[in-house]
Amino acid sequence: MSFTIPLFKLNFDEREEEAVLETIRSKWISTGPRCADFEDRFSELLNVDYSVSLANCTGALHLALAALDISEGDEVLCPSLSFAATVNSVRYVNATPVFCDVSSASDPTISLEEIKAKVTDKTKAIIVMHFGGYACAMDEILTFAKESNIYVIEDACHAPLSEYKGEKLGTLGDIGCFSFFSNKNISTGEGGMLVTNNEDTAKKIRLLRSHGMTTMSYERSKGHATRYDIVELGYNYRMDDIRASIGIVQLQKLPGDLIKRTEVRKNYLSHLSSLTEITIPFADRTDFSSNYIFPIVLNDSTEEKRDQLRDYMHAQGIQTSVHYPSIHQFSIYQDDSHQLPITEYISGNSITLPIYGSLTEKEVEFICATLKSGLNEFY
Ligand SMILES: *Cc1c(COP(=O)(O)O)cnc(C)c1O
Repeated sequence: MSFTIPLFKLNFDEREEEAVLETIRSKWISTGPRCADFEDRFSELLNVDYSVSLANCTGALHLALAALDISEGDEVLCPSLSFAATVNSVRYVNATPVFCDVSSASDPTISLEEIKAKVTDKTKAIIVMHFGGYACAMDEILTFAKESNIYVIEDACHAPLSEYKGEKLGTLGDIGCFSFFSNKNISTGEGGMLVTNNEDTAKKIRLLRSHGMTTMSYERSKGHATRYDIVELGYNYRMDDIRASIGIVQLQKLPGDLIKRTEVRKNYLSHLSSLTEITIPFADRTDFSSNYIFPIVLNDSTEEKRDQLRDYMHAQGIQTSVHYPSIHQFSIYQDDSHQLPITEYISGNSITLPIYGSLTEKEVEFICATLKSGLNEFY
């Protein structure tokens, strides 16, 4: 079925087309000057020292853990209310993910109390995920991590240019990871970026993204080097210049797009804030946000009623989603010991409504009217 109002709309025009054409005509399409340019611009916009472009964010999370020497026997605290890659990456380095519940429906980010309850002397890192572009309790988490001598990795896939007390998300912990998958705030098809203020970490990530090789083929093609050594067991997690050229255009559009999203969110809040049947996460936040998604949580609901409401909205042409099915409930992670009641409630009782810069006031009005009539019917 095709929806009249999709969940997300790609923010592409002739500028992305021209950038790709230009790259193809330059005859250099793999990792090269456009990746370097994209990285420089990303660092500048986020006010961070080092940015490393990568094939995707899953690779960024993997390399983050590898660069911090996290391995077998180590534990990594992580949310279950996230995309599976957040946790799968821990398994790639043979470490053990330890699931933490989120705080509440109004703050569905990793709970500090859970972090404190689940830390052990094997804990080496915490992966935080800034849900929907809204920050985790970073002051408290960073203080606790420092006291406990553990790393903080930020899964900032939802949060490019989102802020926490004036600083950009992804730049607060040891390493920040971003995704440029099609439906993210910055879209390059596939793509990712790892950011850090630590020079040694950045150097190690650059080695690991390209087989542990000491030079890249672009440098060799320019005659800067003819030989290379392999000094670490690396991977091929490189971005290419075609994607980087799209990323550069997307990055230029991002600030303007986020202002439009802020307006869309305001519109939603004006229609929905007074409803007693729902909780709107982060309703009281004032920090600038990327507003990657617009989820709502149904109060006193069941999964069955939620699904009925989603079907009802789909029948009116409105696409919705769920962020997220709990990772700990997927077959490969199932284990009776997990106790994550808030995460499970949100997974079963939330609906993500459409949000993108070009979503009109009329469309928001229609979505909210449809939601309200659905609530009247099923709640
Ligand atoms: C999209 C996403 C990822 C994975 O990013 P890829 O670039 O597709 O590998 C990881 N974590 C979160 C929270 C995401 O939204």
